[in-house]
Amino acid sequence: MNSRFLFALIAPLWACCAFAQQKTVDPTVDPCVNFYQYACGNWMAKNPLPSDRSRWGRFTELSDHNEKVLLDIVQGAAVVREQRSPLDQKIGDAFAACMDTNTINQRGMAPVKAELDRISAMQNMPDVVAELVRLHRVGIGVLFNFGARADAKDSNRTIAGLAQGGLSLPDREYYLKTDAKSVEIRQRFVAHMTKMFQLAGDSTENAAQAARMVLEMETILAKASMDRVSMRDPNKTYHMMSRQEVAQLAPNFAWDQYFQATGAPAFQTLNVSQPDYIKQIAVDQANSSIESWRAYFGYHLLRQSAPALPEGFENEAFDFWSRYLSGKKEQRPRSARCVAAVDRQLGDLLGQKYIELTFGADAKKQITQLVDALEKAMAEDIRTLPWMTEETKKAALAKLKAITNNVGSPKTWRDYDKLTVARDDYFGNATRAAQWAYNQRIEKIGKPTDKTEWGMTTPTVNAFYSPQNNSINFPAGILHTPFFDPRRDMALNYGGAGAVIGHEMTHGFDDQGRKFDGDGNLRDWWTATDGAEFDKRAACIANEYSGFTAVDDVKLNGRLTLGENTADNGGLRIALMALQDTLQGKAEKVDGFTPEQRLFLGFAQIWCETTAPQEIRARAMTDPHSPGRYRVNGTVQNMPEFQKAFSCKAGQPMVSQNACRVW
Ligand SMILES: [Zn+2]
Repeated sequence: MNSRFLFALIAPLWACCAFAQQKTVDPTVDPCVNFYQYACGNWMAKNPLPSDRSRWGRFTELSDHNEKVLLDIVQGAAVVREQRSPLDQKIGDAFAACMDTNTINQRGMAPVKAELDRISAMQNMPDVVAELVRLHRVGIGVLFNFGARADAKDSNRTIAGLAQGGLSLPDREYYLKTDAKSVEIRQRFVAHMTKMFQLAGDSTENAAQAARMVLEMETILAKASMDRVSMRDPNKTYHMMSRQEVAQLAPNFAWDQYFQATGAPAFQTLNVSQPDYIKQIAVDQANSSIESWRAYFGYHLLRQSAPALPEGFENEAFDFWSRYLSGKKEQRPRSARCVAAVDRQLGDLLGQKYIELTFGADAKKQITQLVDALEKAMAEDIRTLPWMTEETKKAALAKLKAITNNVGSPKTWRDYDKLTVARDDYFGNATRAAQWAYNQRIEKIGKPTDKTEWGMTTPTVNAFYSPQNNSINFPAGILHTPFFDPRRDMALNYGGAGAVIGHEMTHGFDDQGRKFDGDGNLRDWWTATDGAEFDKRAACIANEYSGFTAVDDVKLNGRLTLGENTADNGGLRIALMALQDTLQGKAEKVDGFTPEQRLFLGFAQIWCETTAPQEIRARAMTDPHSPGRYRVNGTVQNMPEFQKAFSCKAGQPMVSQNACRVW
């Protein structure tokens, strides 16, 4: 982005005053006491939470920058002119339709009227099943999820899958916990739904009754749902069944009617991720009144459609979901929300334009070199691990070698030729895009898995590991400052992008990833002793992070965040190994910092953030990632290498008495 960050980062420890206003580092803090505060203190002081955010950090800083690039692209494309390319027509008109609030307000409830009428007209279970499919086909996730996914034990084939779903609140615990805050959240949720129904034309009394019915129905679903920690275990969510077995498991539901209407190619077997859930809801739901179904479907339709309805809906949705639950004070500008809508609807078209402007061949080459260096370091790390036998090491190295590295963008872009985008129809565009995406997915059932597909759009500031593809993927959106800059100090790139690459690689070997082999199949390739040794070390990490306080009396869940924390710890260590290997003993200081110190600072500073307490509370229950401060302090306190780099002494907070290490 700009050079100020680079300047701030390499400012010497002792230069407290001359550049104090420019710096990210807070030199008044001892790095051995609180490294996060040291590395980010000044950034946090200069970055109060913007009123339209619940979290503001280095990731959002960069995504804001990307958003400006995208806004330029879509605004340019939206100008109607002769010989506008088909690509520009689509992304430009999608943006213009979203910005056209006059038309949206004028249309009122018209866009959803037909669907609401169908919902009100439902009389019996066959009607409910027919409507359930209709909603699923436009991306509204009610009752359960059905779709195409790679077979966990045979990743080359794509199969049908059923999984739990259909909750509005972020997690099952929101419906089940009995503490005062949880009770209050549910009351506010009911009040919010009441307002949504009123906006749609219901009387106060009917609206309030419908809202209570939705809460009741979702509470039933929540009780039947598997918890998040269990869902992290791929063995617990693998249950291949024939259609006949599904019918026996949950006989009160018209599966043949449902599957037939999904438009899926014929299939005989499917994976049922949570059989207990499917079994239970079939029992409960057959007993639910038709009024409950109408209320439940009606609310989900209104919620999903809110941005395309008169502004009262979006304001009400914002008020509950963003202001109350996440702590945002105001909405993002309409233009920002519309850029996000285009990214959602036409991600690969927008991505093509974005990457042309922002990501050169040079950057790609350097990132690829960085990935190679990290891979080499990870191999060395595995070879020298003290706790693993040769047999398992051999298998781990084979898996590492088999990882596919994807940098920048997917190999092939999705083709949106058959998707119609109209300049005056925001609701229609969103619905058609959701239908189109559904159809694209569903028709893959029974076909070989396309392992080159990405789960993120190109401008996204994030990265991911896919256990079934055994691939690490870095969208162009993240490959900029503060993560990476081809012109800056290498140690900072190793601490930023290098640690992110190491993090994604380590995901292949965390508590979840380690259960898949190099071909992306769920198969145990560990000796029993090595598996037990892994579990022992992972438990150390889980205990460590469970001890951290998120906010007030809310602690982190070390089991929920285990995979991410393991990846942070492994990723930073192999980034350091890779840097040291590249330096070959050269230890040139830059403005007083050794290369190792700069690497640790580069790492810490990608996690600087300011977060609303409501958001921290919600994330502690749902987010597998720890908050920034623990991603930094939780990791460095396990590393003797860090203590050496900053000359920390035993007994200081950044020197763990009981250092954990998996990788
Ligand atoms: Zn991760």
